[in-house]
Amino acid sequence: MQKDLREFIRTIPDFPHKGIMFRDVTTLFGHPEGLRLTIERIVDLFKDSNIDKVAALEARGFILGGAVARDLGVGFVPIRKAGKLPGKTISEDYELEYGKATLELHDDALEAGEKVLLLDDLIATGGTAEAGIKLVERLGAQVTQSAFVIDLPDLGGAAKIEAMGIPVHVLCAFE
Ligand code: 5GP
Repeated sequence: MQKDLREFIRTIPDFPHKGIMFRDVTTLFGHPEGLRLTIERIVDLFKDSNIDKVAALEARGFILGGAVARDLGVGFVPIRKAGKLPGKTISEDYELEYGKATLELHDDALEAGEKVLLLDDLIATGGTAEAGIKLVERLGAQVTQSAFVIDLPDLGGAAKIEAMGIPVHVLCAFE
């Protein structure tokens, strides 16, 4: 039987706001078996997928992104919060539970036509992933696959990204 990655994930109630059950991946990534299984399972999903680049979302997506890109033999592209990337960027605003945020991508990070795997630790409403997809598409590249360690299916994000025509892969879910 495959090990259930949820055993490594800690749940912290009332973070960052009262009523939120925060799924904490520091305990997953901090455990040698948890980290290894997470990276291996993502790499296994995409090793025959002709991905040109891995793009990951700041900050927890980066922990996966470098390792997965290295094992797939492709380059890594960071999608960052506003004001962090040093070169010329394009940006997308997206909605958070309270207010708005902005993601940025270097305007020369991808070539037109490149096939991109988008990675993050967790998908909830899908707003963050959607902003990342829009940035990639604005450079003429295409998000052909996406993967998340955790899905919160009640919040509908994975279904929303699938409805955009992008396959969503998740390693575990919390209902
Ligand atoms: P969404 O935009 O899909 O609503 O939220 C997903 C983003 O918020 C991801 O970048 C993810 O890192 C972060 N996030 C939201 N809730 C949680 C949570 O419970 N645990 C973790 N690790 N990240 C979360």
